[in-house]
Amino acid sequence: ARNPSAPPVMTMNGHFASTGEDQDFEHGVQIIDQDKNFNGNLPQYLQAERITKAGFNYHLISVFGSQSTGKSTLLNYLFGTEFGVMTESERRQTTKGIWMSKNKKEHLNERQERSMAENILVMDVEGTDGRERGEDQDFERKSALFALATSEVLIVNIWEHQVGLYQGANMGLLKTVFEVDLQLFLKNAKNVTKSLLFFVIRDHLGTTPLANLKQTLMQDLERIWSSLSKPQGLEKSKIGDYFDFTFVALPHKILQPQKFEEEVAKLGTRFREGYVDLKRAGLVEDPNDPVLLPQYHRRIPADGFPHYAEGIWEQIDSNKDLDLPTQQELLAQFRCDEISKEVLVPFDGVVAPLEERQNNAVSAGKPTVLPDLGKTIGNARQTALKSFEEEASRYHKGVFKRKQTELENKIDGRLKTLFQGQLSAAHKSGIHDFSDAVAAAVKAGQKKGGNYDFYKIVQTEKSKAIKRFESEAQASLVTGTPWSDFGSQLNLYRKELDEVSGRLRKEEMRRLATRSERWVRSRLGESVGLEFNKLGSGRGGDGAPAEGEKPAEKDLWDRIWALFTDTVSHAESRFTERARSFDASPDEVEVGLWRLRRKSWAALRDKIDEEMMEGNLLLKLRENFEDKFRYDEEGVPRIWRPTDDIEGLYTKARESTLELIPLLSRFKLSGTSAPPPLDAWIGTPPESVTPADEEDLHPIGGVDEDEGRSLEEEMTVLSDGKRQDLATRFKKTADGVYVEAKRSAIGGVTQ
Ligand code: GDP
Ligand code: MG
Repeated sequence: ARNPSAPPVMTMNGHFASTGEDQDFEHGVQIIDQDKNFNGNLPQYLQAERITKAGFNYHLISVFGSQSTGKSTLLNYLFGTEFGVMTESERRQTTKGIWMSKNKKEHLNERQERSMAENILVMDVEGTDGRERGEDQDFERKSALFALATSEVLIVNIWEHQVGLYQGANMGLLKTVFEVDLQLFLKNAKNVTKSLLFFVIRDHLGTTPLANLKQTLMQDLERIWSSLSKPQGLEKSKIGDYFDFTFVALPHKILQPQKFEEEVAKLGTRFREGYVDLKRAGLVEDPNDPVLLPQYHRRIPADGFPHYAEGIWEQIDSNKDLDLPTQQELLAQFRCDEISKEVLVPFDGVVAPLEERQNNAVSAGKPTVLPDLGKTIGNARQTALKSFEEEASRYHKGVFKRKQTELENKIDGRLKTLFQGQLSAAHKSGIHDFSDAVAAAVKAGQKKGGNYDFYKIVQTEKSKAIKRFESEAQASLVTGTPWSDFGSQLNLYRKELDEVSGRLRKEEMRRLATRSERWVRSRLGESVGLEFNKLGSGRGGDGAPAEGEKPAEKDLWDRIWALFTDTVSHAESRFTERARSFDASPDEVEVGLWRLRRKSWAALRDKIDEEMMEGNLLLKLRENFEDKFRYDEEGVPRIWRPTDDIEGLYTKARESTLELIPLLSRFKLSGTSAPPPLDAWIGTPPESVTPADEEDLHPIGGVDEDEGRSLEEEMTVLSDGKRQDLATRFKKTADGVYVEAKRSAIGGVTQ
């Protein structure tokens, strides 16, 4: 830590760096030094004196007058300041350049409480006469101009005995003041701010009444004014257009010390009383009336004063025309930019982390909805804009409005991005959650036996998703901004929910189709299997053929076809009913049914192929043959005797079974002896069928034209080669059975 007794650190540009302690500014601050340099530490001084935040609630008073007329002494009495005062022993100029100090005296406010007077700043301007500066009038003019451009009140300090000495140094000074004032307001004719010239007549002996002194002085002032060569357009102007005048007198400090003290104390109260009603503005002649009237205020906000004063001094010092409106605009731009930056600091503190979170979430591919976004950023926005308005609206209105719009655009630009990002996150996560929720509900439904209502699931989840989006968007709205509206995004969201619902419905259709196909496949597996099993019995399954007809095997294919179409038709109506229940379109249903028929045919074809596997078939033929050969018409097993016509029975049974082979080898209906009308039954592909719908379908001969196989070929169950092979093998098996029968016939006798 810094040693508190160490001297203040001198900075590069020769200013004392503020340590934050008032003691650095014990004697005020020298705003302009003897070399006419402006002190960059003025902001720190105002900060230390707690004036920066005062807005317009501060006052500036300057003092003018010849060298060593007790100016510094007067200010110290009036305001408790500690400006350097010449000592009796060392008679030389003490005040160099321009010093500034804040009033240190307390006063009673309206509620009779003791408090500091409201931020009175006093400037002690280097005395004129040029005793030490020689004939250098330059500084005198410049400091006069500076004081006029900034101060509300100019105290003109004058000895009583100087009154009426028209040629005296004081009058020269006043001439200068009037000249620079005219110069100043020539440029700024539109908004002349009057200054109060407050004459303090020192060492008033009392022999000449104040009224007379005042009259003499006013005559002199009018004379000076009329002698001035006025700029064009201002020839007719009167001194009263630019100045108000007040005159007070103080007793001799050395001869009447007590009276002096009394009077100077009264005078101080008058300065420190602050603003009063404009009603009282006309009463300035009353010796007890306050001095600091609002109309004298230069309307430079305290926080902008250092920058303004520096700019003014620069213009003055480089002998440029002082254009106050331009200076005020420049100041407004500078300060508005600074205030903008300041209010963006806490705004950034709130908004930047949110922006970061959102960006990270986006790049991680995990859209995140930030909780209470609207409230958080709305508050940050409100705070920033309110602080800006509070601080910046004191400056030039046009500039303020422009900068306010700039700031608003800057803030809203960022918040808009955040808001849009938020909606996009709500949208994406909403869609994602919606799909997940539907999938989960379907899964749960499947677990419970598959009897779930897909339509209801989708509707329920959709309305939940919309409600959630709405509440998330609602919580993201930034009050007072026309851009934070989510109507169109909500529409987009609904639209995408519908699209996703459509996709999910398609998936559900697929699931439904798969279930239907599986059902058909398993039903056919059982029923068709049964039909084939009947082949094992030479008399067509359960008992003798009805009404002495041919065995059941003759119309095997008719029965299979009937079974098949019945089963599929049942599945179709269930499919249709189910698909309609979740709002599938007629087109979708049509495609689904078409696919189901094709898949079902493939299932049947698979089942038939399974039954036609050589081993299975051979077994069936053998059973069929044995049934015919080894059982009599009554179904009673034969006991072979040597006298039996074994050979005859054998041949008959074998030939009968062999007839089955051509019958089995082709799927045809007995009525027409033609293949079943598979092509018509399946039908032409629906208009709305897509390549995706056809992707997993097997081509069907006679149905798919580009397949190159005919319906006959599709219906061929056994090829010619297979048929012959099967016949040969069957005959061998049959021969075996025959030999065995023969053997048992002989054996039966020997036994
Ligand atoms: P400045 O140069 O105008 O600031 O004058 P100072 O305040 O330094 O005072 C110059 C001298 O005048 C000092 O010696 C003071 O004591 C003396 N002085 C101050 N006020 C009065 C006054 O009211 N009457 C008289 N006669 N002398 C004064
Ligand atoms: Mg002085």
